[in-house]
Amino acid sequence: MQCLFCKVDNDKVINSRTSLDGLSIKRRRECLGCGRRYTTYERIEESPLRVVKKDGTREAFDRRKILKGLERACEKRPVSTDTLENIVSEMEREVYDKFDREVTSGFLGSLVMQKLKILDAVAYVRFASVYREFKDISEFIDELKPLMTNVPKKKKDGSNDSRSISLQH
Ligand SMILES: [Zn+2]
Repeated sequence: MQCLFCKVDNDKVINSRTSLDGLSIKRRRECLGCGRRYTTYERIEESPLRVVKKDGTREAFDRRKILKGLERACEKRPVSTDTLENIVSEMEREVYDKFDREVTSGFLGSLVMQKLKILDAVAYVRFASVYREFKDISEFIDELKPLMTNVPKKKKDGSNDSRSISLQH
C-alpha cells in the first residue's frame, strides 16, 4: 500500500477490524518510510462471479433470480421457501467451488434441474419444459420417461400415464 503522505510503498498493518455488516475491513497502517499512520477501508466483493449467457453476453450472478425461477417452478407445490433458499445457497457454494470468475447459464440450469429432480418431480418437469425450450412433445416425453420408470407400474401394458408423475409424492 502506497503511503498517502510520502508515497513510499512500504507499510505495516497495526490492526484490522471487520465492519458490523461484515462487508468491509478497516485497517490501521503505519508507513515504514515516514512513520505516519493512516486508515484504509477494503470493501469485500459481494459477488464477483459472472454468468455467461447463451448469446455470449455476461451478467452478474444473481441469487434472487435463481430463487425466483425455483419459486415459479414450485408454485402450489408442497415446498417451503426455506427449502428453496437452501437450494440456492447450496448452488452458490457449488458454483464458487468450481469456478473462479465465470459460470455458464447452461451449467446453472442443469444444476437447478439436478436439485429439483430430487426435490419435487412436478416442479422439475415444469422447470425443464421452460428451460429446455422444447421444440416438440416427444422431447418433453423424453424428459418424463426417466421419472416414470422410477414409479412402480401398476399396469403392464406400458401405456404412459402422465398422472403417475404426481403419484411420486
Ligand atoms: Zn510515508
